[in-house]
This record gives sequence, structure tokens and C-alpha cells, in this order.
Amino acid sequence: MHTKEVISTKRDIVEDIKGILEFYGALGIEGLPINSEKGIVGKKEASVRPARATLRQKEAGLRKLGEEIGNCTKCKLFQKRTNVVFGEGNPHARLMFIGEAPGREEDLQARPFVGEAGMLLTRLIEKMGFKREDVYIANIVKCRPPMNRDPEADEIGQCREYVEKQIEIISPAVIMTLGRISAQILIGNTKLRMTAIQGKNFDYKGIPLIPTFHPAYLLRNPRDKWLTWDDAQKVLEKMKSGG
Ligand code: URA
Repeated sequence: MHTKEVISTKRDIVEDIKGILEFYGALGIEGLPINSEKGIVGKKEASVRPARATLRQKEAGLRKLGEEIGNCTKCKLFQKRTNVVFGEGNPHARLMFIGEAPGREEDLQARPFVGEAGMLLTRLIEKMGFKREDVYIANIVKCRPPMNRDPEADEIGQCREYVEKQIEIISPAVIMTLGRISAQILIGNTKLRMTAIQGKNFDYKGIPLIPTFHPAYLLRNPRDKWLTWDDAQKVLEKMKSGG
């Protein structure tokens, strides 16, 4: 091989490694299990981000909250729901998606974003380099509003403490809100219009928050998908820089 080829091959390898490390960084892995004297260290010594105890505490916190919500009857939505849709994902997630309220499919399966809009969200998550299990997905309101209408102020008022506790327990590096309602509630201004806030930087109790379109809107307006993809890049950048 000529010297020039060797140099450009080395440069490619360095670029590849940089890409892999950035990807791990975005997943929340801040150290590799390598010790300069011993080589690769055993699994137990690996310096991956949070201690297991913290993960257990978060799991326990979410379990307790789930029990607290139980068969909540604080607002009228309990009358027609099939299931409370608590939320799901990695309790240690660095990225949290927050939607509005469960739809028909979510109500039946007791899982967030599993209908058609959910499939689009899953595709976005995967395009960002994650799996659904890596992130955490929740809604502002935990029960389905009849006929998929917007949740009403009293319903949001009764339910919002649950998502606020979820955020507190998970403590993500970045929050991506989906649609107008979740953005308005977490930013704390119900007058905000989606066009004014989409893709902009906000802050929820010290956590960077980037609003994007609701996947159901994107199903109706596929030409705006690229804007959401743009917002996803901003989210990834924030995650790389530590949130
Ligand atoms: N829309 C939402 O806002 N949340 C879901 O879980 C499903 C659809």
C-alpha cells in the first residue's frame, strides 16, 4: 500500500471510531470498559454511566407511581377508558418523548404510541439510532379522551402531576414533546402556537425541551416530516453535549 493510501485508511478508521463513540455518547454511555494496563476489564468493573442502584431506584419510583395511579378516578376520563396508559421505556432513558393522550389502540393495549402515529414515532426513534426500549415514552394525560378529542383543561389539571413525577424520576437529558398540548403544558404557556415553538429550545426544570410535531399531524402532513427530522438532529446534538 502507498503511504497516501495508508494515511487515508487511517483517517477513515479514526472517523469510524469517532462516529461509534458519538453514538454511544448519545445513548448515555460515558466510558468504555478499557483499562490501559489490563486491556478490556471485566463486566463488573466496566464504567458505564449510572450505577445499578440508581436504575433500581428509578424502577421502584416508577412502580410506586404506577400503583399510585392505579385505577385513577380523579377526572371523568375513567368512565370510558379501557386501561390507564402509564408510559413505557427505559427508566434510565436520556431521551423522553411526551405526547398528548392515548388513542384507541393505546387504550386497548395499555401502551403509549402503538397505533398508526406510534409506528411513525417508532420509525423516528430508530432513525435517530435508538430502539423504543432505549427511550421513555409517556403522555400528559393517561386515559383516552372519547372520540380522540383534545384533553380538556380539568383532565390535564388532574393528570399532569403524573407526567411531572415521571420526568422527575427518569431525569432525562432531553425532552422531545410531540404536538402542541404537551409542549404548552410543560413550557407553561397554553397560548403558544405550534408554528412559534416547533424546533426551538425550551427548558423544563433545567432539562432542555424541544417541541416537534405530533406524529398524527405528520401522517396528515407528510411534507413536514423533514422539519421533525431536523428537530431530531437538534435533540441528538443536545444529548451529545450532555443535555
Ligand atoms: N397520541 C398521543 O398523543 N399519545 C399516544 O399514546 C397515542 C397517540
